[in-house]
Amino acid sequence: MKVIFLFVDGVGMRPPAVDNPVNPEVCPTLCRLIARHSVPIDACLGVDGLPQSATGQSTMFTGVNTPKFMGRHCEGFPGPSLRQLIEKDNLFLQLKQKNLRFRFADAYLVDTADELASRRFKSVTTVMALTAPESISTESDLLDENAVMQDLTRETVQDRRPDIPLVTPEDAAEHLFSIARAYDFTLFEFFQTDVAGHSMDYDRACGVLRSYDLFLATLTRLTEAAGITVMLTADHGNIEAMEERGHTRNPVPFVVFGPKEREIRAPVKSLADVTPAILRLWN
Ligand SMILES: [Zn+2]
Repeated sequence: MKVIFLFVDGVGMRPPAVDNPVNPEVCPTLCRLIARHSVPIDACLGVDGLPQSATGQSTMFTGVNTPKFMGRHCEGFPGPSLRQLIEKDNLFLQLKQKNLRFRFADAYLVDTADELASRRFKSVTTVMALTAPESISTESDLLDENAVMQDLTRETVQDRRPDIPLVTPEDAAEHLFSIARAYDFTLFEFFQTDVAGHSMDYDRACGVLRSYDLFLATLTRLTEAAGITVMLTADHGNIEAMEERGHTRNPVPFVVFGPKEREIRAPVKSLADVTPAILRLWN
């Protein structure tokens, strides 16, 4: 059993609308995966207000309803209480307990995990990856094509790192596929969708979704032939409603494409069910 988990930030499910760029003309592969291989799941978790990244992602990667735990949805990077909760137990620590091989494929432009640990602001996935430092991908992994930049093509780091060669979204998919073949579980996080969602710039959102779709098309062609399961979900909605600057309360898609897809999808109703569903694969 080999699994690629694609965490895509800020992509909710909403009926077609003039300001919804998640449509088959812009991103045909993503739309096909959602239509044929997903269930809508709840990202609001019984707490008022708009769902946010710190609580949504920590719920996704711990199985704990963290908006309930915190009493509210928390934005951006996790604060001390959420960090502590993630550090105590999370998906990576659980995979480790099962003696599985896992990797966080997003490249950090650092030489060592210690360098990353000293950063002041850390995302949920960074806090989780630091609890299992062997999962972390560094700059040398990226240059060896053994990691993928969070934006796929490396464009967003060109201003500070013009020495890092650009790649296409299809190249990024090939790199991720070859990483996934060496591990039981591979995580790849993409957050340009959320950044574009907040911009209220419809054309920018289309550009980001088109690039991600090229990546998805190549990746799913490769994984289907190799019998690797691809899972995809989001922490909250955003990009599907470009006339609103903030997040949405729309459900998010929980896509499972590949072997065992029905049995993985069936019990998942909210973000809190994602980590338990992944872990059940190796029971
Ligand atoms: Zn988010």
